[in-house]
Amino acid sequence: MACTIVIGTQWGDEGKGKIIHLLAESADVVVRFASADMPGHTVFYNGVKYKLQFIPVGIFYPEKLTVLGNGMVIDLGMLCEEMDYLQKNGISLENLKISSMAHIVLPYHKILDQLEADKDSTVKRGRTRKGVASAYVDKVARKGIRVMDLMDDKIFSDKLKKILEEKNKIFDKVYSIAQKGFDVIYNDYIRYRDIIAPYVTNTPFLLNGLSSQGKKILFEGIQGTFMDLDFGTYPYVGSFNFTAGSACIGSGIGPTRIKNIIGVTKAYTTRVGEGPFPTELLGDMEEELRAAGGEYGATTGRPRRCGWLDLVMIRYSCILNGISGLAVTKLDVLDNFDIIKLCVGYEYEGVIYKDFPQDLKVLENCIPVYREFPGWKQDTLDIRNYDDLPLEARKYLDYISEQAGVPIYLVSVGHKREQSIIRRDVW
Ligand code: GDP
Repeated sequence: MACTIVIGTQWGDEGKGKIIHLLAESADVVVRFASADMPGHTVFYNGVKYKLQFIPVGIFYPEKLTVLGNGMVIDLGMLCEEMDYLQKNGISLENLKISSMAHIVLPYHKILDQLEADKDSTVKRGRTRKGVASAYVDKVARKGIRVMDLMDDKIFSDKLKKILEEKNKIFDKVYSIAQKGFDVIYNDYIRYRDIIAPYVTNTPFLLNGLSSQGKKILFEGIQGTFMDLDFGTYPYVGSFNFTAGSACIGSGIGPTRIKNIIGVTKAYTTRVGEGPFPTELLGDMEEELRAAGGEYGATTGRPRRCGWLDLVMIRYSCILNGISGLAVTKLDVLDNFDIIKLCVGYEYEGVIYKDFPQDLKVLENCIPVYREFPGWKQDTLDIRNYDDLPLEARKYLDYISEQAGVPIYLVSVGHKREQSIIRRDVW
């Protein structure tokens, strides 16, 4: 029954890729349970840097199963490209499994995402317009097309004809634009179908069966808690749930099978796109933190917004996700700072908030209450034991753990796999 979920506790980009890669080494199965319209994880394997949008890091280990769960919406063109890219780099796809219940992104979803982004500033920034949001909208509206529909020529053809008729009316009457016709889309998707068909499986039965056999299953979270559709800073959020409960919904594993939930927490905070960010730094300090952490979008190069670690957020994240332990990443980025701050509360109109407020007005206008810590002014990149960290770094981490109410399982002090201080086995 060893199931472990890895979740981002902030706004994404916490460094989950490295942590998942590290834990995947001792897992039997790695599962992706949600999709996002942001670039996926960065993984270093045999000295090569891979950016994976869809396929979990388990794919680098031929003896492990790699599962794309039903909670995903999948751009099959991109998935097929990713499969081809991995195969060309000598990575076998033999152990890849794709849920027959996952939904697929179609060309009209991409056009709709683009049109939405163009007219609404809330979704404009931070979106890559890949059709993910519109595919989730269709899923909820019961108009989605699932992988299993594609497996049957007639079912796929009937569903596609019906939905295209509706979408074309919208494109024509509302936006006065044309889109690809039925034949082009149908032929492209039948070609993708032929590529993915050998990997399509009934994944809930597969995963529960493996769990009953005692296999170690790792659930690879994407995005972060505060991008969650329900619990994030709505409407500045993603199109799906990224909190721990979503691992069960997006894969078909029952909650009682989950043993550990690891909250990946960057030692400071970043955010991409618009929306409230109470601890955001402005000016030189932000630039210093951004430069030290290399906080620029992996594909866009766009500077990320940067600020101090916010414990009001982390406490809430621990509650929402039922976090068992934290993996604190990028501690090394703070190595050269004289003073490091931790936000312990928000002040708004004379009231101190210790619990994360739901009201955007409070989040947008509050003043963070900080506790200051002296910097350790020493390299941590080569440290492998917690007790060898500088005293000031340990005080900083211990305070995070105390405030979060959970232990720190792991500290990451560099992007390399071995630059890790492992304190607890997660299985
Ligand atoms: P994710 O979106 O949460 O999966 O984050 P990414 O995988 O995109 O990670 C962001 C970047 O941080 C990547 O370039 C990682 O190599 C890097 N990274 C991860 N952990 C550490 C760390 O402890 N220190 C440093 N300096 N970089 C790290």
